[in-house]
Amino acid sequence: MIPFLDLKRVNEPYQVTIQQAMERVANSGWYILGREVEAFEQQFAAYCQTRHCIGVANGLDALTLVLKAWAFPANSEVIVASNAYIASVLSITLAGLVPVFVEPDPLTYLLDPSRIELAITPRTKAILPVHLYGRCCDMTPINTLAERYGLNVLEDAAQAHGATYEGNRANRRAGNLGDAAGWSFYPSKNLGALGDAGAITTNDDALAERIQALRNYGSSQKYVNDYLGVNSRLDELQAAILSVKLPLLDQNNARRRTIAERYLNGLKNPAVKLPPANQLAQDAWHLFVIRHSQRDKFRTYLHERGIGTDTHYPIPPHRQRAYSAYAHLSFPLAEQLHREVVSLPLNPALTDDDVEYIIETINSMSEKAND
Ligand SMILES: *Cc1c(COP(=O)(O)O)cnc(C)c1O
Repeated sequence: MIPFLDLKRVNEPYQVTIQQAMERVANSGWYILGREVEAFEQQFAAYCQTRHCIGVANGLDALTLVLKAWAFPANSEVIVASNAYIASVLSITLAGLVPVFVEPDPLTYLLDPSRIELAITPRTKAILPVHLYGRCCDMTPINTLAERYGLNVLEDAAQAHGATYEGNRANRRAGNLGDAAGWSFYPSKNLGALGDAGAITTNDDALAERIQALRNYGSSQKYVNDYLGVNSRLDELQAAILSVKLPLLDQNNARRRTIAERYLNGLKNPAVKLPPANQLAQDAWHLFVIRHSQRDKFRTYLHERGIGTDTHYPIPPHRQRAYSAYAHLSFPLAEQLHREVVSLPLNPALTDDDVEYIIETINSMSEKAND
């Protein structure tokens, strides 16, 4: 059996060093906003080549806090792809703003720069490009539009740890491609904690200072509150674990790329639509997402042969009950993607044999099985 993701195996190489880090925190007597959080913030800012990193409780909070810190008028609009993950959309709503959906690029499944301009209204204040599946959105035209219309750009980098983008601002890492970025270190991400964790990266000093206060009751000095803040602190234990795992992120991403390359070269089933291959080296390959017109049948076929898969994601945001106000809208591209996408196993714990077996199983599907 090849599970879609076995986190115990993914974390096995760190077993000893994580135990040591946890013991260090347990023995320190200091558990919230201390040396470990500061150290990880510095390391992750250095990794992303940004001036600041602020640790928070999770990825949803990271995105929400940036949007709140920008203090746009209530009901200002934020442009986001119609196939975005629900948390990206929720962050807009939770900040008192209005998500405006635009259809994704049909080849990359990412925010389509050519569709943004039509969605801009006098109420538009920000663009939220989600680097879905580990691939950076096309940030050069997005930033150009943002500059022209005076909009802020918030990257959702929760799936893109270590991804890079070659744009007109040279070769940069995800998290350093807009005005600010929200990160998640949910256990299944490319850089995952052993619990919930998140962060914001930015080069904006004033924004960083405000978010540092917002995550801690709106206070930058104990018992003095400048903003209506929240409690969204990254804790010392998760920060210490992330510091153990960060140095191996690039190596793990390289392994992900090798597996992705094998899939791209090896999968020959004509009913399987592969992801774009042109950014192999820049993509963080958080997920390897293919499309199949008989998605559920395809998943069952693989499951019966011991291969676990997942679906990212089965229901588009505007079809969720939580967003029933959007139910009358039609986004045919997003809807088709949500009907057809399947994620194959892709993580550093997979062996070469696992990958070969998955490729062979998919290639040997008969025409009838595909139908
Ligand atoms: C995981 C994820 C989030 C949310 O992160 P949490 O830590 O689970 O709150 C947001 N956006 C995207 C694209 C994600 O994959």
